[in-house]
Amino acid sequence: MSTPGKVFLVGAGPGDTGLVTVRAKELIERCDALVYDYLANPELLKWTKVGCEKIYVGKQKGFHAIPQEEIEKILVNRAKKGLMVVRLKGGDPFIFGRGGEEAETLVNDGVSYEIVPGVTAALASAAYAGIPLTHREHSSSVAFLTGHEDPDKHEMHVRFEEFAKVGGTLCIYMGMGHLGEITERLLKAGLEPETPVAIVQWATTPRQRSLISTLANAVADKDAAGLSSPAVVVIGDVAKLSAKIGWFEQRPLFGKRVVVTRSRSQSSELSAALSQLGAEVLELPLISISEDEESTGEDIWPTLWNYRWIVFTSPNGVKYFFEKFYRQFDDLRSFGGMRIACIGETTASAVREQRLAVDLVPEEAVAENLAETLLREETLDNETVLVVTGNRNRDVLIERLEEGHAIVDVFPVYRTDLTNLDDDPAAMRFREAGADAITFASSSAVDGFVQQAKNLQPGEGARRPKGVAIGPKTAERMRQIGLPVDRLAKQASIDGLVRAVQSLWGK
Ligand code: SAH
Repeated sequence: MSTPGKVFLVGAGPGDTGLVTVRAKELIERCDALVYDYLANPELLKWTKVGCEKIYVGKQKGFHAIPQEEIEKILVNRAKKGLMVVRLKGGDPFIFGRGGEEAETLVNDGVSYEIVPGVTAALASAAYAGIPLTHREHSSSVAFLTGHEDPDKHEMHVRFEEFAKVGGTLCIYMGMGHLGEITERLLKAGLEPETPVAIVQWATTPRQRSLISTLANAVADKDAAGLSSPAVVVIGDVAKLSAKIGWFEQRPLFGKRVVVTRSRSQSSELSAALSQLGAEVLELPLISISEDEESTGEDIWPTLWNYRWIVFTSPNGVKYFFEKFYRQFDDLRSFGGMRIACIGETTASAVREQRLAVDLVPEEAVAENLAETLLREETLDNETVLVVTGNRNRDVLIERLEEGHAIVDVFPVYRTDLTNLDDDPAAMRFREAGADAITFASSSAVDGFVQQAKNLQPGEGARRPKGVAIGPKTAERMRQIGLPVDRLAKQASIDGLVRAVQSLWGK
């Protein structure tokens, strides 16, 4: 008999993946089927295991939303087949999320379930716009109300007049469509025209926009600013504190869209640094990097201890070299006493993470420079050098070393392949909206970009990005293929690259 399935109604939080609960993450990673709609951040889908069935049940342009009964059927059917199903809902499942109805159906159909709360949009909007929902001097109650912007439902059920009398902070979900009617009713019921109103759209995401207005001017200000759904409207004295406490939209790179062109496995450090500064980061995984399984190193291992130098040309080289090494040996001493050279600081830190000291890093992170520095350091006449690379070899480096009479062995440990960008969310956003800056952290990323060019054509009205290069080699490659180099990092490292991006806008 198959194990009984189960449905988890899980709050996905307001958008920022960092605001998902640990429990939600664990369930997304384990589930067999994931049912989600448009408010769930597509990044969350990447957490699923291989083979997880992902079912989109949200609205699509030009199509009707999948009816609620249909969604419930999907949940019940999958669970009855013995699957572990996660029903992911924006914010919290029990706040204007129809989670109650779904849970009732599960009870009626005898399907087991669990419910995982999430950070609801009102809390998130308030925190990220700097609005304390309660405050000893301004408000001692909060209400979550719906303005029913669903075009199918015209009448509003909320008795706004009563809430005007209660006072306190009012948070209105789905209120953008009927904002005029809502503010009018609140004014009629006695709220002051000067009552502060904040509108927070796409809270917690890089697309967040907020404005502070008053009950009298909210509609006009919203229209002038072009704010629309999804947004929470916060009404009450506390809303004005946003001007003082707001922090999210005040960060240095907020409002800038920056493309990171690296392989999927490598991009996170740069992306994290840029997001931390407020940028909307589009990670374009142009190339995917994987271990070169065909290159087993069988001719390298027996004499590994015998090399005079080992040269690492990239952090990936370090990573895959040591994976292969530890598959071969179970004792670090098998590495031998060779000297270690690295092309740049990022590569050197990857080596240091292995608890090995680096003997040489050239001042400028380019292959020629490494060869020259090495040759200046000592004569390489008949000395053995092992160069660890990817499948795209650093021919210049090898040539130069050989000209210096070194005996060079090349050990390719990883492969670089092009990624399919057709359905990639970052690539889709780039095609549609463009970007303010595009960063290149290696000349192979530039090559990847060129090879993917036809999948990355910006559409009409899309912003044209400024180009930022990590080092002179990368910049040269960019110029060769006609990409603008607006900034060159002063130091060839992630930090240097981040600073170069900031300097585009004098930050
Ligand atoms: N269950 C969700 C609410 C779903 S109703 C929750 O707990 O948050 C959809 C409404 O939620 C939207 O119309 C908008 O008012 C609000 N909302 C959802 N995500 C939002 C976000 N990131 N920023 C602002 N409002 C958001």
